[in-house]
Amino acid sequence: MRSVSPSSPPEAPKRPERAPMKPLELALAELLAFAAPLAPAESVPTFEADGRVLAQAALSSLDVPAHDNSSMDGYAMRCADWAGASSVLPVSQRIAAGGSGEPLAAGSVARIFTGAPIPPGADAVVMQEDCEPTDAGVRIRLQPRAGQWIRRRGEDVAAGSVVLNAGERLSPALLGLAASIGFAALPVAPRVRVALFSTGDELVMPGEVAPANMKPGAIYNSNRFFLRALLARLGCVVTDLGIVPDRLDATIAALKGASLQHDLILTSGGVSVGEEDHIKPAVQALGELNLWQIAIKPGKPFAYGKVNAAHFIGLPGNPVSSFVTFLLLVRPFILKLQGATDLAPESIALSAHFDWPKADKRREFLRVRRNRGGGLELFANQSSGVLTSAVWANGLVDNPPGRAIAHGDTVRFLPFSSLLS
Ligand code: AMP
Ligand code: MG
Repeated sequence: MRSVSPSSPPEAPKRPERAPMKPLELALAELLAFAAPLAPAESVPTFEADGRVLAQAALSSLDVPAHDNSSMDGYAMRCADWAGASSVLPVSQRIAAGGSGEPLAAGSVARIFTGAPIPPGADAVVMQEDCEPTDAGVRIRLQPRAGQWIRRRGEDVAAGSVVLNAGERLSPALLGLAASIGFAALPVAPRVRVALFSTGDELVMPGEVAPANMKPGAIYNSNRFFLRALLARLGCVVTDLGIVPDRLDATIAALKGASLQHDLILTSGGVSVGEEDHIKPAVQALGELNLWQIAIKPGKPFAYGKVNAAHFIGLPGNPVSSFVTFLLLVRPFILKLQGATDLAPESIALSAHFDWPKADKRREFLRVRRNRGGGLELFANQSSGVLTSAVWANGLVDNPPGRAIAHGDTVRFLPFSSLLS
């Protein structure tokens, strides 16, 4: 207790208490602990599975390729039959892709095409460019080496091996691989059903009010557009509830409705604790809420809660804060709901081609562009309201708290190419 003498000046009015700032790793770990993977898995055609998360491992029941086969158009032969650059060997059979050969007759070659099975007895393929057809057969100019131009059975996939792991996000190449082991459909996690709305009485929709008719203080709702697109890229089914007015009753009504039939309610704006910020009391009236001050820039205010069975995430209103917190927190959260195992963004050590002498005490995510020289350039205006920075940039520098950057320093780069997919 502090003693107050009668002569002390009157105490300044108390500021509202602020929660201590939470490091990003801690916020992310706490957030992810709430994300139980959704069930049940569903079977979707392999053709339609791009971007979905595999719910069960896929084992191969066959070798790929299923037979030793030729990787060239040419002639299959026994190396031991080669008797010098002028020797001519007769052609005893012809094997095309999709066909099958007979055992190779002694002292002969088989005409063979790419992908066709190697006939029993042959131990090499010579490519047709190294051969000369004659009336008596084919002259093989170069001495063959055993095994040349043969793709071995099972060299791509061995029967019995796990080809795709549970929790893997399917990519175009993985779809091809799944098809190569015979899967026409794949078991995947359900799509995440997301209800999205923006808060803010200043917001108007492009198309509804022409730029010339914008009232003072009005701004276009930009967050709604990138959030919807970001959710779509993660394969979510989005219900867009538009703009909810800055009123407690309207916010409660929107949340209540959204909590049915959705796995996640995502909002932007109104998560500070100002008088016009109704997200906090509204979520608290219906369920539970954790309001965090995350020690990142841009970002900081972030809310996680539950409304009925639905998860609730409230993003800050400033566009770049909204964008960056989505990438750093919402993206891994949604991936985890889908059962994905790889949640961390790709991070590359690169050279800064800029100076950042006055680092913030929060961990910063600077909008940068990778140049042709492989270095990183900084967008001049790093304000959390300047969406141009996120358009110009092709990634973020993840800068630790208080670390000044000098030209030439190695920094961590998080490319948008992996964060936006
Ligand atoms: P808030 O978090 O609601 O206090 O909003 C912070 C800032 O972000 C204010 O300048 C808002 O006008 C702006 N903002 C909030 N929501 C949006 C939105 N959907 N699109 C563009 N700017 C927004
Ligand atoms: Mg607001």
